[in-house]
Amino acid sequence: MQDFAAGRIAQAAMDELYERALEDTIRQFEATGSPVITDGEQTKPSFVTYPIHGLENLAPDGAIIQFADGHVRQLPRLTAGPFRYRTYSDAYLTHAKKYARVPLKQAVISASALSLLYPQEGIPGYSDETFLADLVDEAETDIRRCLGKGAHTVQIDFTEGRLAVKLDPSKNLLHHFIALNNRVLDRFSEAERMRIGVHTCPGGDQDSTHSADVDYAELLPSLFDLKVGNFYLQLASEKDRRRVLGIIHKHALPEHRVFIGVTDPIGSRVESPEEVRDRVLEAAEFIPVGRLGTTDDCGFSPFGDDLSTARETAFAKIRARVAGTELAARKLGL
Ligand SMILES: [Zn+2]
Repeated sequence: MQDFAAGRIAQAAMDELYERALEDTIRQFEATGSPVITDGEQTKPSFVTYPIHGLENLAPDGAIIQFADGHVRQLPRLTAGPFRYRTYSDAYLTHAKKYARVPLKQAVISASALSLLYPQEGIPGYSDETFLADLVDEAETDIRRCLGKGAHTVQIDFTEGRLAVKLDPSKNLLHHFIALNNRVLDRFSEAERMRIGVHTCPGGDQDSTHSADVDYAELLPSLFDLKVGNFYLQLASEKDRRRVLGIIHKHALPEHRVFIGVTDPIGSRVESPEEVRDRVLEAAEFIPVGRLGTTDDCGFSPFGDDLSTARETAFAKIRARVAGTELAARKLGL
């Protein structure tokens, strides 16, 4: 990807590399036995910028996200309206379906993350409210197209939830984010929302986080206000998992399915199936097994240029997740 960006690889050659990476990822992912897979986001520039990559109304100097190890990621800044996506996620889904034989979960970015593109000083002739209305339309379209193309579930990446509490301990920003995402979710039926989920984590880039120092308890109760049926929650990397599970138990609604993170994509040590099993059994003390599922804490490389986790490590962790989940299911008599 770096060679392509620097002009050392032609578009056709890059496309061929993407194609092979996609095919290989899906083949290896299916081989883990995971009942639902993803395309590994192999061809996205990042989990957050895929819809806007290549737009001309952007400048590079947008909001900065600070990570614990000192590195930063900077979002682009919107310079003019109207705001439209250039790429919708169903493009990735359609592509992945060429190779996949098992159901696919498709990740989309939250409206709240993209709301950070709008500059604090405003844009002449394009108000904040108009921008948000356009953004809500586009985020709805992004989800709807994936549902229409047969995604098993659509996962909204909401990694800025915990970060919002860090940036604004009064939680006004968090509540603003939740309300904005619910403006999108309000447009879907109950049945559609059962196929929509939300992922949260403290960020995971170059083996570092942006908001792990924020108490999960500050985020979780509000998170369950999001009008979705599925929650994909980072948990493996939490220090006190039982406390977090207690909060989930208290705030998740009876119709919510909860997928707990049982592998940590940031650590290089591969979890054992027995370790995963024990994490599931622990969670089953708090969440009814009919509503409990497992997931990885986060993606293994949310930004396309993050090489910190080897493919072999990622797949070994996914294999442990699948094997450990099966061990737990047997133990639970499922
Ligand atoms: Zn994540």
